[in-house]
Amino acid sequence: MKIASTASLQVIVAAITLATATAAAAETATLPSSTHQIAIAYEKPKNAAHEHLHDFLVQARVLEQVQEILSPFRLPKRVPISIESCDGESDARYVYSEARIKVCYEYIDEIWKDLPTETTAPGVAPIDAIVGPLADVFFHEFGHALIDLHNIPVLGRDEYAADTVSAMLMLLMAKDEARRLIMGAAYWYTDDLETTVTFKPSDLSGVHGTPHQRFFNLLCLAYGANQEMFGDLVEKGFLPEERAEDCKSEFQQAAHAFNVLIRPHMDQSLASEVFGKRWMPDVSLEPPRLPKPEPSTADVSTPSTN
Ligand SMILES: [Zn+2]
Repeated sequence: MKIASTASLQVIVAAITLATATAAAAETATLPSSTHQIAIAYEKPKNAAHEHLHDFLVQARVLEQVQEILSPFRLPKRVPISIESCDGESDARYVYSEARIKVCYEYIDEIWKDLPTETTAPGVAPIDAIVGPLADVFFHEFGHALIDLHNIPVLGRDEYAADTVSAMLMLLMAKDEARRLIMGAAYWYTDDLETTVTFKPSDLSGVHGTPHQRFFNLLCLAYGANQEMFGDLVEKGFLPEERAEDCKSEFQQAAHAFNVLIRPHMDQSLASEVFGKRWMPDVSLEPPRLPKPEPSTADVSTPSTN
């Protein structure tokens, strides 16, 4: 028994040593990394109903801005980011096998359909309800890319780590813009806290947190980062006091992980320049409302005759 345990221990130690050596080798293999590694593409939508979306995103230079914001990160290879059609599936993902990020028109269309008609009670302007979720989805997927390409260890769920990377990037922006981004992104997760939610156990088995959990996690990190700027969220009951109590330490833990694991992969002077800029459109900017598709064009398999 004792011999077996010792043997097992030796195997474990050997495995850890090997893993460490492999990780070190992988790190060496991925060097040198360089900045400005994001490539972008707006693919032509397959669904004619998404053409307005395509035109708006191109005109607003959404991907060019994402590319510039992510330019300070050193990466070992080019990472393409594309907006593309996904055959009706509302999806956004980092494709590990190809080391690329894709965000579907169908996903962005859902963001659009969820837009408030006017500024909401917690202060989310319609334009922020677009920009916040867009920033969040690109930053989240980029979090997966960073973790993958730099072999960054993750204790806990990969999806939570990607959410944390996204929140930290939003919080690096100018304070007022960070607030607008966070609130806009939180709106996307759940714009209605009053609704009672019922779950089947299997609904809780996903790799992502539920929208409500992601909402509270995001607000908690924001409040933990800046109790003055986000204090009203607790006062108004959007973030329950029981959770808020420990948000400062939750943020400090996330900031520590970010500083140790992510920051070394950023060019600091370029990052100061990029994150020191102002990115948000004017808060009063009314987002274009997309025309409702004709019933006949809703079928993606119908070839366009125009
Ligand atoms: Zn993810």
